[in-house]
Amino acid sequence: MHHLAKPPVDPAELEHRNIRQGEFWRGVPAYEDVDEATFLDHIWQGRHSVKTTDELFETIGAIVDPTFLEDAREGFRRAPMAVRVSPYMIASIDWTRPYEDPIRRQFIPVASKLLPDHPMLTLDSLHEQEDSPVQGLIHRYVDKALFLPLQTCPVYCRFCTRSYAIGPDTANVDKAPLAKTTDLWNAAFEYIATRPEIEDVVISGGDVYQMAPKNITLIGEALLAIPHIRRLRFATKGLAVMPMKILTDTAWADAITRVVEKGRAQHKDVVIHTHFNSPNEISWITERAMNLLFERGITVRNQAVLIRGVNDDVRTMTTLVKRLSWINVHPYYVYMHDLVRGVEDMRTSVQTSLDIEKAVRGTTAGFNTPLFICDAPGGGGKRDVHSFDYYDRDNGIVVYSAPSVKPGQSFLYFDPIDTLSPDAQARWAVPSVREQMIAEAVFRAGGKVAALA
Ligand SMILES: *Cc1c(COP(=O)(O)O)cnc(C)c1O
Repeated sequence: MHHLAKPPVDPAELEHRNIRQGEFWRGVPAYEDVDEATFLDHIWQGRHSVKTTDELFETIGAIVDPTFLEDAREGFRRAPMAVRVSPYMIASIDWTRPYEDPIRRQFIPVASKLLPDHPMLTLDSLHEQEDSPVQGLIHRYVDKALFLPLQTCPVYCRFCTRSYAIGPDTANVDKAPLAKTTDLWNAAFEYIATRPEIEDVVISGGDVYQMAPKNITLIGEALLAIPHIRRLRFATKGLAVMPMKILTDTAWADAITRVVEKGRAQHKDVVIHTHFNSPNEISWITERAMNLLFERGITVRNQAVLIRGVNDDVRTMTTLVKRLSWINVHPYYVYMHDLVRGVEDMRTSVQTSLDIEKAVRGTTAGFNTPLFICDAPGGGGKRDVHSFDYYDRDNGIVVYSAPSVKPGQSFLYFDPIDTLSPDAQARWAVPSVREQMIAEAVFRAGGKVAALA
């Protein structure tokens, strides 16, 4: 039987177009009297970022339950990452439901929700420091390199994969030094120039949002001048957490634009990569910033992280993917959460990623459908979540191999312990049983050497 027409669409299917409008920040007591011009000023945003619990209390204390604030005070004390939250992010949080809010979960730790770290966790879980030929440069994959020219960000994510290096030292972590000075940058450029196989450089950090326009120009031009470099990506979380900077820091936006144009004239591809995790991070300000970049012909791609309580359900992930597409951001990756300290409550199982991927695929254009990725702990690099060699779902052990990155090795990812059955949790509590389970999984995967974290 033929259907002549598709039935009318459920309005819920168009939820992604329902982008936050108006002066939404005025609901935050501290921003009640802040007008649009002030709120859009990136300097004002930077100056009013919340870095301490006292600042948090001053900003939202009047409207939030005191028990939540106490919980946050203890959360700040235990956090491995420094805290820094832009007023834009503060204003995007639903303070009537702070425990459930997906933006609060990413930036403001609360002690009551913390879980013990997974026993297999190490600080630099991706072993970036091992693949680093010169300070501030990671050369893991044959034709691409990751350049980390600075150590600060416009906000600090609780779940930072580089918490070993990024942000000021905290009571819990002394940060390893990354390249900070132009001398170190020059050493990175020299290394890249002597490695003809490198075609692609990711400029990350830290966050290029924090970089002075003259340094964007310096780095962009130095890399474009290397004949075998064909592609550059400037990585910034800024578009997600402080989109107004694109509109009001004209020197910064123009510096990026000039590198893109210079690259284009040389037939080299220069793009921006960003990091939205929740559809709630996208407002009319984001849309306006994206319109400016789009008019300038600048490609923007998104790399999200799958985070428990933030985007680990089909509806939220689909809305994120479709809302990004609506504002011309290409959803590129959705990562499994890295095994980093103090964030066990934010991780999900690999099965969750498999299930969400299956549901998201088919909802929109293939080129706007992200790849779901596990960046294999131990330095195996990025793997399609589906491509495991073996998955012990009972014990939450996933075995990957990466023949073109680290041939002959197996790499392991572990589901969060609290999502396993009580029996499996009991098995993890015993170190000898733990080792046996892992050895068994590697054996079943046909692997030889497990690069144990
Ligand atoms: C992620 C990453 C890259 C870029 O990888 P793509 O899959 O091309 O996005 C390059 N180098 C390192 C070390 C990385 O972690």
